[in-house]
Formats: sequence, C-alpha cells, structure tokens
Amino acid sequence: MIKKAFLGLSTPQIEYAMLPAHLPEIEKIPTPERITLFHPKKDAFNIPSTLGIGDPVKTGEKLSLYPDQNFYVISPVSGTISSLSPYTGDFGKSYIAITITPDGNEIIDDTFQQQIQSPTLELVSNYLTGAPGNPPLNLLAESNGSIKTIVIRGLDPDPLVATNQYIAQSRLKNLKKGIQILKEVTAVQDIIVITAGESVQGYGHIGAQVKGVRATYPSALPHMVMKDVLGQVVPAGKTCEDLGVCFFNAEAVISIGRAFESGQIPTSKILTFIKKDETPHIVETSIGTPIGNILEAFGETVNEYDRIISGGPMTGSAVYALEHPVQPDTDSIIVVDRDKAAYISDYPCINCGECVRNCPAKIQVNMLVRFLEANQYEEAADSYDLYSCIECGLCSYVCVSKIPIFQYIKLAKYELERAKIPEAADA
Ligand code: SF4
Ligand code: SF4
Repeated sequence: MIKKAFLGLSTPQIEYAMLPAHLPEIEKIPTPERITLFHPKKDAFNIPSTLGIGDPVKTGEKLSLYPDQNFYVISPVSGTISSLSPYTGDFGKSYIAITITPDGNEIIDDTFQQQIQSPTLELVSNYLTGAPGNPPLNLLAESNGSIKTIVIRGLDPDPLVATNQYIAQSRLKNLKKGIQILKEVTAVQDIIVITAGESVQGYGHIGAQVKGVRATYPSALPHMVMKDVLGQVVPAGKTCEDLGVCFFNAEAVISIGRAFESGQIPTSKILTFIKKDETPHIVETSIGTPIGNILEAFGETVNEYDRIISGGPMTGSAVYALEHPVQPDTDSIIVVDRDKAAYISDYPCINCGECVRNCPAKIQVNMLVRFLEANQYEEAADSYDLYSCIECGLCSYVCVSKIPIFQYIKLAKYELERAKIPEAADA
C-alpha cells in the first residue's frame, strides 16, 4: 500500500497557518443556480408537508418543517423551493435537503428585523442558529445558566485553515457587537477570544479578554484551550460544557453582531479554499452553494483518486459529490491531488509507539486500536481510555501503518452513543 505525507505536513510539529499583517482580498463566488440547505429530520420515513415544492421563499426567511420545534434553516436567497428529499449525512444523521432555485429578484424577509430592539436568548436561538459559523445557541439556551464562560475561536483549530483568524482580524466592529449581544442575552460576562500568541495585540477594547495559544497544532482544540488557557482538565467522558465553558467560532459571534447591526440574518459563508497546488484563498459564498461551484470558479478540476476534504487536514472529512453544499460550519474545502493524498492501508499495527508518543491525551493508542479494529467498543472505552481522546487525529497522521485510527475512534464513539438510544438504533 502507498503511504504519503498529507500536503507536506511531514512532522508532528505542525504550525497553524498565520495570515500576513496585510490580509488577503476575499474572493466572492457568484450565487449559484441552485441552493441546497440541510434541515434536521425527526422522522425516519416522512417528509412533513409544512413546506412544498413551488413555495416562494424570501432572503432571510426562516424555513421550518417542524414549527413546534426549534429546527429550521434560513434561506440565503429569494426564489422557489424546487425539491425536498431525504439526505443521510455523516454517521447516519438524517436531514431533509431543501433545494431552492433563486429567481434573481431579491425580497428580504423582515421578521427578524422587527424584533431586534429587545435581544433575548430566545430570539437569537430562534433566528441565528445555523447562521454562518454555526453558533451553538441551542446549547446555550438549554444550559439553564450553567455556562459561565464563552471562548471565541479567533484561531482555527485545524492547521492550514485560516477562516476564523481572517474574520476575527478583519471584522472587529461586528465581533465587538456580537460579544455585547452575547453578554446581554446570556448574562455570561467571562468571554475570552483565543488567538495565536503573537497576534494578541490589535484587538483593542472589544469587551472580552484576548489570550494567546501556541501557534502549533493542536493548541486551539477545545480540550487544549481548557487546559492551557483556563487551567481546567476536561475529565474523560465529560464535555467543556459540563465544566461551564462553551466554544464559539469567531464567525458565529460576528454573524450575531452583523444581524443586530443590520437587521438582516447573515447568510454568506467565509471559508478557506485550498487548491491542489496548495495555494490558499479566502472565499465568500452563499450557504447552500454546491462545492463544485467553488472549484469551477477557480478553474479546479477533480480527477480520479483526487480528494476533496471539508474541514481541516487533521479532523476534516471526505466529500464525495461536487453537489454537496457549503454548510454554516464549512470552514474549509481542500482539494488534494491524488499524488499527495494520505492513504490508509490494511497493514497491521507494528507496535512502533509513534501514536502513543504523539497523543496529547497520553492514551495507549497502540492498545486502543486493537479493540477498535475488532469492534470491541465497550472494552475500548472501559479499559483503553476511548473517552479521553480529544479527537486531534495526530495518531492517524503519524501511524506508520497508515491505520485510520481517528476514523475508528469517531465510529466507536458514535456507535456507543447510538447504543444508548434504542430508537436511534432502530432508525
Ligand atoms: S485522536 Fe489519537 S492522538 Fe489525538 S487524542 Fe485521540 S487517540 Fe490521542
Ligand atoms: S503508530 Fe500505528 S503502527 Fe505504530 S503503534 Fe501506533 S497504531 Fe501501531
């Protein structure tokens, strides 16, 4: 089997991509002929009839298949619904794919604007969940005040990705407004912006503390920020939220700021696009734009065995269709030439210990992987620290046998969660 380094990241000392002081120009992708939005789906069999093919939609309109629940998407364009179809995402997540054909005649929905004079958590949760950056507002709303600290990521957790770094540095006014709204609606006063060590200066008075982390991966992952910045170790099986800390991407906070400044719900997504020749671009496009449209705008072609990755090189996932749309949390699209792609293999573990030496959670990965390969997930959790894993992907990256350890770990956690919910297992 072939073994190659991914995108030239040849050493475990992986540096984050740092933008130059003079930020690059943002490159805009035109509105596509078709927008697809993934609406969460409750029922395994039925598509509710609350929305129908041919229904007109406005820009910024809330589209909800289940009006009694806080599931919805926001239309980024004006036009008509041209299809509704079931879609299964990663790890069996069910959605209804709502496809909208823009008509070029933009009509703005002002329902949100009419309510912005009195910001509440309910209002932001009812309209801005699913805004660019995917603010975890439902999580805040459901926390019943247990969240005491909000950490804003002005540094992207995955290397090569510079989306949130770009946004945090270029949209300080919106960031400040978003922080002000978050304080107002949550009563959380402890807000920290995370950035790379050397760029702590330059934020000015934004209503939050600014703290630096090392510019090497995985310093910006939540568990590492908890340990290095907040001085708290997240126990195995617990989450940052369990310790009263909630993470927002800078883009999510800026979306909130922009929404309250303009009265319009933002619907354009900024992301890092990396071509096969490894040149990075900061791109802005509508949520719901097919990824193929971005490739086309840059004259990029995909050949057999090339790869498209959504998310960063360490924790991202493969995209298998050019029609796959940009999501509110799509922070990067990376096209990898077949000659540079990291391959997996069916070689056995040779017990070299590289994964153990590089694991920031000090897990005996060489032992863990044996149980994961045998689908013995409960043993992996009980005896080999599966739940201590912070999902950095370094073990897969350094594994000389190219065992997809990280993917095994994510699958094991998913299967264990699924086993806890009998109805999900039946779906
Ligand atoms: S992904 Fe691998 S290296 Fe990272 S914490 Fe988990 S087991 Fe350790
Ligand atoms: S790096 Fe790969 S081959 Fe080496 S001990 Fe870990 S799992 Fe085994």
